[in-house]
Amino acid sequence: MPSLTRQEARDRSRSITVTSYDMTLDLRTGPATFESTTEIRFTGHQPGGATFVDVKAAEVHQVSLNGRDLDPAAVSDGRLPLVDLAADNVLRCSATMAYSRDGQGLHRAVDPADGEAYIYGHTFLDAAPRVFACFDQPDLKAPYSVHVDAPPDWQVLGNGAATRVVDGRWDLATTQPLATYFVTVCAGPYVSVRSEHDGIPLGLHARASLRGPLERWAPQLLEVTKASFDYYHSLFGIRYPFGEYHQVYVPEFNAGAMENPGCVTVRDSRLFRGAASDNDLLTRARTTAHEMAHMWFGDLVTMRWWDDLWLNESFAEYLASRTLVAATEFTDAWVSFGIIRKTWGYAAERAPSTHPVAGAAALDAVSALQDFDGISYAKGASVLRQLLAYVGDEAFVAGTSTYLREHAFGNGSLADLLGAVERASGKDLTSWSGAWLLTADRDRLSVATTVEDGVVTAAELRRSVPRDRPADRPHALDIAGFTDGFEEVRLSVVATSDVTPLPELVGKPAAALLVPNAGDLTWAGVDLSEADVAALPEQLAAIPEAGARAVVWAALIDGVSRARLDPRTVLTIMDRSWVGETSSAILERVGDEAAHRVIPQFLPETEHEAARQRLAGSAARLLDAADPQSSRALVGAQVLAGTTSDEALLRRWSAGQGLPAGLAGDTDFRWLVLGNLARRGLLDDAGLERASAEDPTMQGRLAALRVRASLPSPESKAWAWSQLTGRSGRSNHELTALITGFWFASDLDLVRPYVPRFFDEVPELVGWVGEDALARVIRLGYPRVVEDETARLGAAALERTDLSPAVSRNLLDGAHVLGEALTSRKRYAR
Ligand SMILES: [Zn+2]
Repeated sequence: MPSLTRQEARDRSRSITVTSYDMTLDLRTGPATFESTTEIRFTGHQPGGATFVDVKAAEVHQVSLNGRDLDPAAVSDGRLPLVDLAADNVLRCSATMAYSRDGQGLHRAVDPADGEAYIYGHTFLDAAPRVFACFDQPDLKAPYSVHVDAPPDWQVLGNGAATRVVDGRWDLATTQPLATYFVTVCAGPYVSVRSEHDGIPLGLHARASLRGPLERWAPQLLEVTKASFDYYHSLFGIRYPFGEYHQVYVPEFNAGAMENPGCVTVRDSRLFRGAASDNDLLTRARTTAHEMAHMWFGDLVTMRWWDDLWLNESFAEYLASRTLVAATEFTDAWVSFGIIRKTWGYAAERAPSTHPVAGAAALDAVSALQDFDGISYAKGASVLRQLLAYVGDEAFVAGTSTYLREHAFGNGSLADLLGAVERASGKDLTSWSGAWLLTADRDRLSVATTVEDGVVTAAELRRSVPRDRPADRPHALDIAGFTDGFEEVRLSVVATSDVTPLPELVGKPAAALLVPNAGDLTWAGVDLSEADVAALPEQLAAIPEAGARAVVWAALIDGVSRARLDPRTVLTIMDRSWVGETSSAILERVGDEAAHRVIPQFLPETEHEAARQRLAGSAARLLDAADPQSSRALVGAQVLAGTTSDEALLRRWSAGQGLPAGLAGDTDFRWLVLGNLARRGLLDDAGLERASAEDPTMQGRLAALRVRASLPSPESKAWAWSQLTGRSGRSNHELTALITGFWFASDLDLVRPYVPRFFDEVPELVGWVGEDALARVIRLGYPRVVEDETARLGAAALERTDLSPAVSRNLLDGAHVLGEALTSRKRYAR
């Protein structure tokens, strides 16, 4: 189906204004479809004019414009032409719509724990017409009145406050003007925890089988919610405008969460049923604060078109960490941002698909979806921190608040936002925004010093600008020097040219380690000197400030990825420094990088097992040294469980014996252990069946699929492949579970035959699996056979001209990630 183009959206919003939607959904008609009836009132700007409405139905039954019946057969490619518009128009459309299994539209999932069905609406980015007839573009906002018919024992939630008018009939309060992509309905026997804050009714909801975790975590979730409301109210001086505020933890959600006004949907694995690390909790709190920031940035003021999606995501990403630090117990939010979110963004910046934060040419809606990436989120938030350093906090807050007030319930653009900040600050932002927002890529920063007899005699900060994307980015940053855990020097610098002298360092004793961007304020590649890298095994863990350690770790990950550092060097640094790390975010991110990327991708196959056992040794030391029940102990146990070759230990743990503190009865931890046994060929079908029967939950089903796909036998691989590509009716989450398990194989002969099949068969899932879900399948499932032949096949696949935007973008990025590993393997071959 063609995707709406920017030009079509412009033309349509010039020709009509939408006044209101009135919509009725009947969810009582069985597991495959539902009935959708919509009445749209809209004005036509030219008498007799024409436009079209979007509707992607299983069957359109009846449609009329101003009382005139239209032919339902005239719907083509999800569009119904509307002609002879009056000044005031009423469009009525009734249709049968299909539930989805791919997380887009109205998704329906059955909980294996109790057989209950759960429904949620996800209309982002262009899935609204799969739920109701509409003018699906972000600048045609209108109030919604929604009615839902559902089984009487269900609960219904949506953007407006829900009232059960009679058994089985729910009315949702008429909303403020909303963009189509925010409209949601959640229905099913959801269980709830309710509260209230500052006059705002609050609700947390989840599947009935998750009642325990929901009640366990509700106090913390509500505390973050309440603190964030207070913070945003005082920051912007604009009250939350959407009535009640519900957070619905839903099954099989593609993203982390979605900012539907009044009814945020969240991936329900965030309601941890087992142990959770400090960083797991911080990450969840960041999602809570992020979605709440969207109530202002995105929901109250919506970008006019998708090319300004940074106005949503960069602000929400920035404000979330700012809010956590200012108003909650999660004061390490910027450390987690630095090591987890920024390394994601830097990876996106290294890829050929990198793009400017703002103003990327999103010519149609589905292409725009591809730019919801580490650039729009992590780089965008970092650039906002630089904007704040450039204009000052007061002007930044005043300007953004003015922007929100001036465009409330409407739409805004980059120019509107910058104009408001320019007026508040009195600074011209033309060249600043040209360099930071409208130009892709990043500078590289390094500090060069000359040292004589242990004393610095010359020092400068060097900025290296990418030659093919020149820009003049000013950087506000810190430089700090550390020796044996002591911060010897710290200076704040604004670098506005390629060489910035650092006279403050001259005459001082040379620190063992100099860290550019030590406060992690700016967005740049950090190049450590050879001497600094050599000092890291002794110095890194001793740096007192977690944020500076995150900068160093991010630089190491970047260096390995760019084939500037031998992966063995980084693994040696890790062996010495990871065990001494205290930040849960750094521990997790670095452990994950070593176990799932540096070792399997960057080292040759002959070195994998030895490196893995060295990592397992580090993890065992971490587990031994850490306080029982701490996040450090948890990460140590998790990495050990996933890597060790100690079969006896794995057998004991899988039987529930001798488990580390806090992990007794932790089913998710048990699946980690079983996964390792399975990959080593130490788990038979009967063992897997038993484990699966003992965990008849949605999480258990997914874990079992992943483990089954990872079994090292030709039969298991063939089975997993047929489930993945055989149009088996598997859900979005089941497909990603299958593909993430699939490529594990110590004998590459097991999976090598599937590399060409991946490039032939997976793109063909388009149309059967939505773009959002398929993007994830390709991203997580790009072949892990690190060989030139994989690269050759990947390049050939990109030559195809029939690929959908999600497929081609993720194949391009996958080829790049594989290329990073291949380049490193060649450069550091032994
Ligand atoms: Zn967001």
